[in-house]
Amino acid sequence: MLIVMEHGATPEQIETVVQAVRRLGLAPQPIPGENRVAIGVLGNQGYVADEPFRDLPGIQELIHVTKPYKLVSRDFHPGESVIAVGTARVGWGLPPVAIAGPCTVESREQVRATAKAVKAAGAGILRGGAFKPRTGPHSFQGLGYEGLDYLAEAGREVGLPIVTEVMRIDQLERVAAVADCLQIGARNMQNFDLLKEVGRVGKPVVLKRGVSATLEEFLAAAEYIVIEGNPNVILCERGIRTFERALRNTLDLAVVPYLRQVTHLPVVVDPSHALGRRDLVIPMSKAAIVVGAAGVMVEVHPDPARALCDGPQSLDLAGFAQLMAELRAARA
Ligand code: PEP
Ligand code: MN
Repeated sequence: MLIVMEHGATPEQIETVVQAVRRLGLAPQPIPGENRVAIGVLGNQGYVADEPFRDLPGIQELIHVTKPYKLVSRDFHPGESVIAVGTARVGWGLPPVAIAGPCTVESREQVRATAKAVKAAGAGILRGGAFKPRTGPHSFQGLGYEGLDYLAEAGREVGLPIVTEVMRIDQLERVAAVADCLQIGARNMQNFDLLKEVGRVGKPVVLKRGVSATLEEFLAAAEYIVIEGNPNVILCERGIRTFERALRNTLDLAVVPYLRQVTHLPVVVDPSHALGRRDLVIPMSKAAIVVGAAGVMVEVHPDPARALCDGPQSLDLAGFAQLMAELRAARA
């Protein structure tokens, strides 16, 4: 429930409502607004009755929240969240951040060369998969903790924070000890036990949209993380499965301006996995920035033809420099 106070509600009236919420065993969250204060009610598992509030002075309206998320919504959180990932800042309205690196860490040299090049071209965060959620069990599954070490080393060497995917709860502690940001992949977007555990770890999270997730499901997944005490979630649109098969997925760019209205959490766009083709990555990255994305996540490989995973959608090092130049020009 959201309790909207009248324009001229006094601090005493607000406090009376806060106490009334507490008496029900629920958690009040005052939300200061430009014109009036609202009080979010958290902690209820079902409908909150109007009765205890009906006769309290200073209340303008009682709004029942029927959506499966509250904390990530703008109703419950004024302003826009800025998520710090090491030295990078990701937020609506800030200069867009490029998260770049190989799909998969394949060797020390490969991730080092990539890190050096993406840093030089202006990337803000280095990405790289150590644990890979591959569609088939015969495909390369990643180097695991060895890959994590190479990624961390490369990040340190060039001075970039790193993001990498965790697939299982038992990987969390070791990955969180070295990564600046944890990634939850599209396939795990609704792995609720994993989301809850990630919410208990004090590291920012890139949460990727599931291939057939509605935006309500996407936000509800983010809510699982935030409700455990971790507000540092970056949403990532990475394409969804539709009837169209010409490209790997359908890049749903409308989510960027739509989500900006609905949530305070920033949204970044991953055109690499959405499109599956490197030649479309630059134009669609530009489009993402134009519609207001807080950043892009792109796959980069020193030799895409030899990549062990997602080569066709990976930019080479010169291609990434070109992308950054075009993004700068588009923003200017
Ligand atoms: C990735 O970013 O490497 C990845 C596997 O992406 P997704 O979960 O979006 O498929
Ligand atoms: Mn990939």
